[in-house]
Amino acid sequence: MIITNNINKPHIDKIQTDIISPVDGEKISEIRFTTIDGLENIVKKAEEAFQKWSSKTLKSRTTVLFNYRDRLEKNRHQITDLIRKENGKTIDEADAEVSKAIEVVEFATSLQNQPLGVHLEVSKGVFCQSTREPLGVVSSITPFNFPCMVPNWTIPIALVLGNAMILKPSEKTPLTAHLLADILKDSGLPDNVFQVVDGGENIVNAICEHPQIKAISFVGSTNVAKLVYQKATHHLKSAVCLGGAKNHLLVLPDANPDMTASNVVASMSGCAGQRCMAASVMVGVGNIDNIVKLIVDKSKKLVLGKDIGAVITSDSVKKIEAYITEAIEQGANVLLDGRGSIIPETPNGFYVGPTVLDNVTPDMQIAKEEVFGPVLSIIRTHSIDEALNIQNASLYANGASVYTNSGSKASYVSSRLQAGMVGINIGIPVPREPFSFGGVKESKFGSSDITGESSIHFWTSLKKVTTKWNAEDQIDWMS
Ligand code: NAD
Repeated sequence: MIITNNINKPHIDKIQTDIISPVDGEKISEIRFTTIDGLENIVKKAEEAFQKWSSKTLKSRTTVLFNYRDRLEKNRHQITDLIRKENGKTIDEADAEVSKAIEVVEFATSLQNQPLGVHLEVSKGVFCQSTREPLGVVSSITPFNFPCMVPNWTIPIALVLGNAMILKPSEKTPLTAHLLADILKDSGLPDNVFQVVDGGENIVNAICEHPQIKAISFVGSTNVAKLVYQKATHHLKSAVCLGGAKNHLLVLPDANPDMTASNVVASMSGCAGQRCMAASVMVGVGNIDNIVKLIVDKSKKLVLGKDIGAVITSDSVKKIEAYITEAIEQGANVLLDGRGSIIPETPNGFYVGPTVLDNVTPDMQIAKEEVFGPVLSIIRTHSIDEALNIQNASLYANGASVYTNSGSKASYVSSRLQAGMVGINIGIPVPREPFSFGGVKESKFGSSDITGESSIHFWTSLKKVTTKWNAEDQIDWMS
């Protein structure tokens, strides 16, 4: 059993939750929730730590990040094992999370070599200079589905820019967050520059209301993202809140069949469909029967537990299966049914097998709502514009892709897809750093993205300094 280092600390009370591994349904740990008094104490310590941390040079803060990068690499196996245990994804998927976390750390270390402000001689002997100043104590609130990558969308960038961070991970997968805290400490990060608090709605509300917390980033479902955005901005904090998704892949008949099918299957089934960039709806234009057949053939070959991990809870299994059942009752044609899947060695684990539904219609719930399971809904259309209308009607707009061999059709479709991240012949169009991550419409609230250049702006304020060294009276600084 893993015992988090948060247990036995004085700021926590007796409210606690069990951490259940989705792999086999066994309890692997328990975590006590941070109380409101506990949060108060943590914010106070963070403020003190911020004063010293922010007074260090960017170069010196970057040294800690270099150490952190090395230790993420060195502890890769421990991290991936823990992610697998508490989240249920496969080791390869957990490993990919660590790689993406490292990529963001590398972006953060590159900031020391970038001009973060401007210095201009605006008149003779008169200079204006802008600098990026850290905000103070900031908070990051994260979901269960990427216990390492999503926290690391925010940790390295916010810290290297001089802030002190309080991370509130999902109460379903808090163990990786505590391990990250240990790794940061081991990297030389001064005490209390990074702290983890545990809990659910209560502690999130307290974070949103706390006057000393200056900015909040949130990643999770749309309903909660909206609440957090409203609460945080009501309390005059800057906020960026990433929400849920419903990603459409438009498949044109001239697409490369094998590549498209492999790509769609990987996108739909990776992380058991629990990705905000997962393929959820495939919109076929014209006759794509050969591609659908390949998708089913390839999906049938996926081995549960080896190629597809678990979903997070038994309730998730029920919810996903209910979506499938309802779609079939409403007329969808089930080409592959993942309901009732069990792994004999771990019969109490939480699994849904890959599922492919054909002839789904845009009005069905399964076509509109986030299913968050390894389920592909196929909608058939006659024209590109019909397919685009279906994608454009979605409330969500995180990712969307088109598969075609025609450059002009790819260009026509990609310019009309409504999504923050668009792919051409790629099923999970997550941009690499320094391109930023973020959707639009109900997939994100707030103007910044969560990584990349706009995150630099999010985690800092802009200070403008005007200097006049020329003492000659006749120089008009407005000239
Ligand atoms: P969630 O919204 O249930 O939880 C996210 C965080 O909010 C957790 O830390 C949780 O403790 C907290 N929380 C839950 N209910 C709350 C409430 N009522 N008030 C205040 N805080 C609350 O999300 P989840 O189930 O952990 O994660 C899955 C969701 O996250 C999916 O919708 C997925 O699409 C989304 N997601 C989005 C992105 C993105 O980049 N857009 C990335 C990853 C996950």
